[in-house]
Amino acid sequence: MPESKFKKFLKQTISHEFVVVPLLFLTIISVGFGFWYGDKTIKELSSQIAFLSENLNQTDSKLASTTISLEENISQAKTSLEETLSKEKQNTEEKFSNVQNEVGSISGTVNNLEKLSKTDPELLQKYSKVFFLNEHFSPARLVEIPSEYNYFEEKNYQFYDQSWPYLEKMLKAAKRDSVDLYVYSAFRSFDTQEALKGQYTVVYGSGSANQFSADQGYSEHQLGTTVDLITTGISGTLSGFDGTKAYNWLLENAYKFGFVLSYPKNNAYYIYEPWHWRFVGIELATYLKSNNKYFYDLDQRQIDEYLISVFD
Ligand SMILES: [Zn+2]
Repeated sequence: MPESKFKKFLKQTISHEFVVVPLLFLTIISVGFGFWYGDKTIKELSSQIAFLSENLNQTDSKLASTTISLEENISQAKTSLEETLSKEKQNTEEKFSNVQNEVGSISGTVNNLEKLSKTDPELLQKYSKVFFLNEHFSPARLVEIPSEYNYFEEKNYQFYDQSWPYLEKMLKAAKRDSVDLYVYSAFRSFDTQEALKGQYTVVYGSGSANQFSADQGYSEHQLGTTVDLITTGISGTLSGFDGTKAYNWLLENAYKFGFVLSYPKNNAYYIYEPWHWRFVGIELATYLKSNNKYFYDLDQRQIDEYLISVFD
């Protein structure tokens, strides 16, 4: 190698070293610092992450416990609200039920009063020589009895309209039991009664007339709810009615249709009239039948208790 070349090389090399070595040194330091710094940063970040993570955990558990206590509170509130509402509902229902009962009993009373107001109290009054009916009294509504039920078909008889269905049922029931039962007399007005008494007076004299026919105004026939019944085979006379099959049938069955025998044998009010039946309602008739009593045996106040049910 020529000297010049060597020198040149040496020169180059030395000049290179001066540059390269510091550069290399700087690079190593930089990289070392970088590693050291990076490592430090990572550690710091890690600890921050750990701190945050712990915080997050704590927050989570706090949130969880808060949620649980909130849920418990909500549940308690719900239960308490439900209990309150249930009690309120019960109270309201009780109050409503009480009001309903009150309304029910008031409307029951009103119904009874309305029923009573539409029922003629005269229908269950005692009438005889002792108890008399005003001459101006006449039944509110009368219906014509169909002639098929009359003993004398050509005659016209009237009956209290609300009582007629009971009489009709009784006459039909008798027929079903093969009992001949016919209407001989029904409603009689005050005037008719007076005229009738006049006839009897003429025929029998006044003493006997009182025995046969009630003085005008004293007769149950004026009510429109009383009927004289007759059967066949006794020559059309009422006096033969006692002891007939028809009479015995009535004694057994008339109460089922609300009819009672007004003047039984040995009564204190009137002569024995086995043909004379008065409608007093099924309830009262049944009471009398089952207690073996007669209408005129009862106190008027006791009779009046049955007025409400007379057409039931
Ligand atoms: Zn009569």
